[in-house]
This record gives sequence, C-alpha cells and structure tokens, in this order.
Amino acid sequence: MLDSLSQRLSKIVKTMRGQARLTESNTKDMLREVRLALLEADVALPVVREVLARIKEKAMGVEVVGSLNPGQALVGVVQEELTAIIGGDLSPEERSLNLRVQPPAVILLAGLQGAGKTTTAGKLAKHIVETMKKKVLTVSCDVYRPAAIEQLRTVTEQAGATWFPSTTGEKPIDIAAAAVAEARRRFYDVLIVDTAGRLAIDEAMMNEVAELNSYLKPAETLFVIDAMLGQDAVNTARAFNEKLPLTGIILTKADGDSRGGAALSVRHVTGKPIKFMGTAEKLTGFEPFDPEAMASRILGMGDIVGLVKDVTKSIDIEQAQKLAEKIKSGNRFDLSDFRAQLAQMNGMGDFSSILDKLPAQFQQAASKVSDDDVKKNLRRTLGIIDSMTPLERRKPELIKASRKKRIAAGAGVPVQEVNRLLKQFEQMQDMMKMMKKGGLSRMMRMFGG
Ligand code: GDP
Repeated sequence: MLDSLSQRLSKIVKTMRGQARLTESNTKDMLREVRLALLEADVALPVVREVLARIKEKAMGVEVVGSLNPGQALVGVVQEELTAIIGGDLSPEERSLNLRVQPPAVILLAGLQGAGKTTTAGKLAKHIVETMKKKVLTVSCDVYRPAAIEQLRTVTEQAGATWFPSTTGEKPIDIAAAAVAEARRRFYDVLIVDTAGRLAIDEAMMNEVAELNSYLKPAETLFVIDAMLGQDAVNTARAFNEKLPLTGIILTKADGDSRGGAALSVRHVTGKPIKFMGTAEKLTGFEPFDPEAMASRILGMGDIVGLVKDVTKSIDIEQAQKLAEKIKSGNRFDLSDFRAQLAQMNGMGDFSSILDKLPAQFQQAASKVSDDDVKKNLRRTLGIIDSMTPLERRKPELIKASRKKRIAAGAGVPVQEVNRLLKQFEQMQDMMKMMKKGGLSRMMRMFGG
C-alpha cells in the first residue's frame, strides 16, 4: 500500500516545527513528496512540473497560523491549489451541461474506442431524463460496429429515453441529419449522438468526428476519457482538443483503482471543464465531477486536516492515547477496544461530514448510508458487543455457532449481524496492525499530538 502524502509529509515535518511561514527552504523536501504523489497518481510529467510551480508560488510566504505546523499548512495549500486547477475555480454553470439552445440541443460524444462513450450516452440520457425532466433521443453514428449500435439501443431503453435506429450501411452524416429531423419532428429536447472511436488516435476517425461536429453544431461536444489511461491521457486529450471545439470532458471508470491523475492531465492540457464522472458500469454510476474529492484522491488522502479537527473536538484524547499505547506495546486490539471506539464515534455527531473527509476509497463504501442509518447501526453493534461475555470480547475467536446464537438472541438481532460485526472487527484489527507499524503515531505527531 502506498503511504498517503500526509503520512510522508509527516516524516519530514518533525524537523520543522515552530516556523512561522512557508519558505523555499522549509518546503523543499515536502514539495518533493508532493511531486512524487502526483507522479504516483499517474499525472503526466510536464503537468506535474507546471502544477508544482503553481503550488510553490502560492505557498511561498504563506503564514503558518494557529495550531497548524508548516506541514499542515503546505498540505492545505496543495489541496486547495489542486482543487482549483482541476476545476474548483470554475463556476457551477461552467461545470454543468449547457442545453440552453433552440431544441433539440445536440450533445456529441467523442473519444477512443473503449473509453465508455456508449455507456456514457446511456448515463447522460438517464441523467437528463430524470433530473432535468427532458425528452431525449439517442443515435449512434458508429457505422463500423453493429454491436455498438445495439449497445446504444439497450442503454437508451434502460435510461427511459428513445433510440433512433441506424445501420452500418449508412454514412454518419446522413444518420445525424435523419436523427436531427426526427428530433425536430417529435419535439425532443435533447439529441445525444454517439460516435465511432478507434483504439488509438487515427486521422480518418478524427476527420469523421470533426465533420459530424461542424454539421451538428452541438450545444455540447464532450470528450469521453478513461481515467485508467493515466499518462496516456495527455496525448489523447490534446489530439481531440485540437480537432474539436470541446465544451467539456467526462471522465469514466473513476471507480477503478487509479489515483485519478488523468483528471489533472486532461484538464490541464485542454483547459476544458470536467463535467461528469463515471463510477460504475451501471447507468446509475454517474455523478457530477467533484474537483475537491478528486484532488484528495490524487494526493491519496481525504481532507485530513479537517477530519483531525473534527475528531479532536469530540474524541476522548486520553482514551485514544491509552489505545495507542496499548497497540504500541504489542497488546491485541480486542472487542472492548472496538466498542470504546464505536461509542466515541457515536458522540461525534454528524457522520456524513466526517465521511466526506475520509480518503476516497473509504468514502465510496460509506457514501450510500445516511446519518440515521449509521447511528442505528452503531447502536445495534454496541448492543451486540454488550451481549458478549468479557472473555468473548477479549478472545473473539471463541465465538462459534452456539455463542453467536446466544449473542444474537441477547441483542435481538439475526445471527448474520453478529457475523458481520466480527468481520468488521477483523478488518479493524488489520488496520490496527498497520497503524502499529508507525502510521498512527506518525500521524499524531504530524498534527501536533
Ligand atoms: P465505447 O467503445 O467508448 O463506446 O465504450 P463502452 O461504452 O462500450 O465501454 C467500454 C467498457 O467500459 C464497457 O465494458 C463498459 O461497461 C465499461 N465502462 C464504461 N464506463 C464505465 C465506468 O464508469 N466504470 C466502469 N467500471 N466501467 C465502465
């Protein structure tokens, strides 16, 4: 597992306490770590250089205020700057779809084969039908792959929109013309045009898409790009941007395990706003792009500074230290410790605000639950632990079928919930093992603990 940027900075930060502002010399080592974090996130090298220069310029002279140390101050600058570069400095209008034209508003999707264009056409149709309450027609101009045309039909039907038939015998321009005529005739608000892609940049394909674009004069010409492309994203984005008057970008497969460096590269090279992000194969896996969350992901961390502030407000420091001591001294983290932690969380208040600050990989799992659900769950979980004997809490491995049944009955929950709790506990134990290797204490030091 890669160390997060904050963990790495914390190693350096120890040497520079008590300094009042960020300077060339006290940020040099840290900026090197920032550079590494960007490279590890697969941001293209020229982009890394420019982004770093911008961060450096912003950071110099920044005062280290309050209880922050220089490392935290720099993390703050890096995160803010990256968020701005990636689109945080754009207005909400610039980041959303612009369909305010004489209907039908045409949306043209361009990108390499496999980027996720057809899937995105379905997602976009669903989004427009459901949230904008508009009537949507889709059409495929991919006359090279009959399967792509069929695929568009399927996703369009799932999206609750209408598919306009096309065949491989026709010319893309003729298909487009017929679809526009149909959209006018039947009063569609929006026409989504899916286009052919190749596996790599290809002159003929580019010309074809460019020709379609000048014919259709779309309200939106969106470039669809696979987040997993990493550094290659630069060249592809540049080629499409030169050939087409792009109005925005859709980043697909953001659910993959890449750190998302492609987002930064593409935004930097094209200067165009990233408007949406695909987060699953299913049509529901589609969200407006969130620059702040993506910046955190690129840096490999959540809004740690904010999280620590929230946590220190409500956490019982003494208890946390006791736990840290216990882990450090090699004692096992047991279910009583787990219970103490959960009970603390219960006092932390608004869960979603805390979840927002966790690194992306945790957020994804957590995002589907509401505050109330979390609290209800937490109370049930505490109830389960309370139904265990002290011995069971110390030695969870003793809890086999008959004990599980007794505990479940005691807590008034099905046995599956006991199983789930034990599983969660195991995961927590694994995390604690990782922290024992230095993570927790280092992190505490970084935040002045
Ligand atoms: P096209 O060739 O550009 O039209 O790409 P497709 O729409 O056929 O998508 C290529 C593959 O990527 C398919 O297997 C899709 O299911 C998958 N895909 C598209 N978008 C996403 C996404 O946001 N997340 C994931 N996990 N898979 C996606």
